[in-house]
Amino acid sequence: MTAQKLDGAAVAQQIKQGVAARVNELAAQGIRPGLAAVIVGENPASKIYVGSKVRTCEALGLYSEKYELPEETTTEQLLALVETLNRRDEIDGILVQSPLPAQIETRRILEAVDPAKDVDGFHPINVGRLVQGQASLVACTPAGVIELLDYYQIPIAGANAVVVGRSDIVGKPLALLLLHRHATVTVCHSRTRDLPEITRRADILIAAIGRTAMITGDFVGAGAAVVDVGQNKVTAAEEINRIFSEDERPKRREEFVKRGYTLAGDVEPRTVAERAAYLTPVPGGVGPLTIAMLMKNTVQAAERRRGRG
Ligand code: NAP
Repeated sequence: MTAQKLDGAAVAQQIKQGVAARVNELAAQGIRPGLAAVIVGENPASKIYVGSKVRTCEALGLYSEKYELPEETTTEQLLALVETLNRRDEIDGILVQSPLPAQIETRRILEAVDPAKDVDGFHPINVGRLVQGQASLVACTPAGVIELLDYYQIPIAGANAVVVGRSDIVGKPLALLLLHRHATVTVCHSRTRDLPEITRRADILIAAIGRTAMITGDFVGAGAAVVDVGQNKVTAAEEINRIFSEDERPKRREEFVKRGYTLAGDVEPRTVAERAAYLTPVPGGVGPLTIAMLMKNTVQAAERRRGRG
């Protein structure tokens, strides 16, 4: 079996078209959804993420503001900015890019964001609503994974779904979303015993681990749908042969020479594609969905705040 590619980029494109249409409808009523993105310090990856979020806002007709604060910013200073953004009516979504520098109390910042503007879905109020299955702003990456499964009509109800990873931003919310869609959900983590034995039983296998190509073909049951959330830099050239299929290697080697790394997920595509029925690529799988869902959440926040959602 060679797995069918789950094309996250194509699904993200469709979501963004839907967002642009809603933005147009709101524009006719004199409303322009607005996102404020805040970044603290010099983390290069964070700068790239925030840059592409702001550019996507512009492309879809949303209003956006970018705040770049110095590395030495204090919790109090960041709280003051969040409170200002909470009060401003033209700002519908507030995104504080993580990771924050060590001196900042991340928990206090996340809890300070108005839950109605919490487009990352990290506020305890929104997490609590998610637990209870109430309408809420849901974390973008997990919500994107559900959109992807739905687009490809992969049945969730009754499926054995195994989520490897239990982080607050990916594993836990995704497990809840799958549960609400009537999957039988198993959540695995670093203390799970005999992980391959559990993952092999999955109809839907989600890898959100942060370990390069850890999920090999031995972890996957025949015919599973495998979603690779991981985004890891491969910086050793010899790893390319282990991770990627022969067809994929020339492109990866070229990229490696150009940038000094190539991107891989938590799944080893060379062996997993032989077992799975569906597999997301990295890049081009879950990554583009995260930004698309952020845009969708911002429009939803704008509509709800004005009693239209
Ligand atoms: P995280 O907070 O580091 O959580 C990783 C999870 O994996 C933890 O629950 C950990 O278990 C578990 N784990 C670690 N080693 C394991 C092992 N050997 N066996 C089984 N479980 C293991 O990471 P995250 O923020 O959820 O992100 C996961 C990955 O997704 C990363 O590669 C990240 O870059 C990527 N990501 C991508 C997007 C996107 O837009 N595509 C968005 C967010 C994250 P414990 O809880 O026991 O420590």
